[in-house]
Amino acid sequence: MSTDTLVLSSNLESYLPLINKGKVRDIYSLNPSTLLFITTDRVSAFDVALATGIPSKGAILTLLTAHWSTVLKTTIPGLLTHVQTLALPPSIPPTLHSTHAPRAMQVRRLVPFKIEAIVRGYLTREAWDSYQRDRTVCGIAIPHPGLKERAPFPDGPLCTPSTKANVGDHDEDISEARAAELVGGVEYADRIKELSLAIYRAAHAYAWARGLVLADTKFEFGRDVATGEVVLADEILTPESSRFWKRETYAVGGDGGGGEEEGCDKQFLRDWLVEEGLQGKERVVLPVEVVRGTEERYRECFRRLVGREVEEVVGGEV
Ligand code: ATP
Ligand code: MG
Repeated sequence: MSTDTLVLSSNLESYLPLINKGKVRDIYSLNPSTLLFITTDRVSAFDVALATGIPSKGAILTLLTAHWSTVLKTTIPGLLTHVQTLALPPSIPPTLHSTHAPRAMQVRRLVPFKIEAIVRGYLTREAWDSYQRDRTVCGIAIPHPGLKERAPFPDGPLCTPSTKANVGDHDEDISEARAAELVGGVEYADRIKELSLAIYRAAHAYAWARGLVLADTKFEFGRDVATGEVVLADEILTPESSRFWKRETYAVGGDGGGGEEEGCDKQFLRDWLVEEGLQGKERVVLPVEVVRGTEERYRECFRRLVGREVEEVVGGEV
């Protein structure tokens, strides 16, 4: 796979029905219980799509999601994920395999719960701003004065649900009561929260041992209509859905940024957009150094967590 090859659209409509073109993923229907996810190199930030893609990103996100699915299922008893196989279905002709194989994943078709489950382990970004304002984070009181920026939450990670915005809208923090309404009951909301915190804790320990600090992340879950099971869906603990800091430069407090600027995630790209006054603008073209800087951060995230280069893993087991 050449790092200069960008796949911004999967164009498999001649072979399978396309049911959704998200900001990043093209989703095809394989059969009533299975979807084919193609994660393209498209990138979005602040809920809008940018004009430029990030090379290798689709493969990195796909293979990392598969890796985490395997790791988490062996660590957390009873956890179900939507990941089924990285194989392309026989309906896709072999001539298209090299382009799509690294970014394809068959997943269990679910009815997505209409919330995002955000788990935060550290006082950073909007959580830090809000703590400084009134010592709360997303409406949750933090009864500990004097905490410094990037400190871990003394009472453990927080699960803070948000809405899943429709196109053009922004996600909003919501109360647990509103989350329960949106997911169809307190039982589902409690299960989502319990699983989200268990996954965060397991992933934090796994990443820590490999030189990364999992600062925060976002999970999506879905319900299997046939069985009623709550299943972890969408992308899992990627540099797009999470903030990962390098352990060696992570520091609490101080003015130097505590290593956040070296994070192995999308924050670098978001920060550039903010500095340029381009936050939330549609179809922004990225300069080559921002593309390369983002790609390298995603690669470093993969390298540390999987222990190999993405090219070494394509076509094999993660
Ligand atoms: P949007 O769909 O609003 O554009 P997005 O840009 O995050 O959001 P993508 O990440 O490109 O979308 O596509 C993933 C979509 O698929 C999300 O809407 C997600 O909720 C949905 N999804 C994830 N896993 C499953 C699953 N197993 N079954 C059904 N839908 C899923
Ligand atoms: Mg998404």
